[in-house]
Amino acid sequence: MRGGAEVPAFHAARGDRTEKHRQDPEATVFRPGTDETNVQYEDVLCNFCRRPWDPDDPSRPLIEGHHGSHLCGECLSLAFLAIVHEGRDDRKAGESCTMCLEERKDEAWRSPEFPDACVCRRCVKQSATALEKDKDYTWRRPAASEGSEGPAS
Ligand SMILES: [Zn+2]
Ligand SMILES: [Zn+2]
Repeated sequence: MRGGAEVPAFHAARGDRTEKHRQDPEATVFRPGTDETNVQYEDVLCNFCRRPWDPDDPSRPLIEGHHGSHLCGECLSLAFLAIVHEGRDDRKAGESCTMCLEERKDEAWRSPEFPDACVCRRCVKQSATALEKDKDYTWRRPAASEGSEGPAS
């Protein structure tokens, strides 16, 4: 056992999806009626809001979890705000993170719409870092808004 081994970094979803979903179909949420032998980009849904992915929208990328789960940029922003800026913790004891499938001790964010989906602080941070490095997307982590709306420039 090597010390300090972390989960592999997440990356934004793109290209050759069909192969991947053949390997790990259980956790992937598809649009109803999807032909799983011929998965299209738009058939892949975010586990947290169940909205289809639009590969042409650079502001709402989709992060791939480890077992076919997905987190979109919008849900990531909500999770980032809740955990990092508001200090919220929706974690339930004994529950594992939808993205890394580990039972974590750090804070978690739960989807308000689909409460069986939750993501841990580590995954949120890691996803944010991966997305910001990705030049194909314009996603940026949300800034703290101390009661005021709008981006601080
Ligand atoms: Zn989402
Ligand atoms: Zn996690």
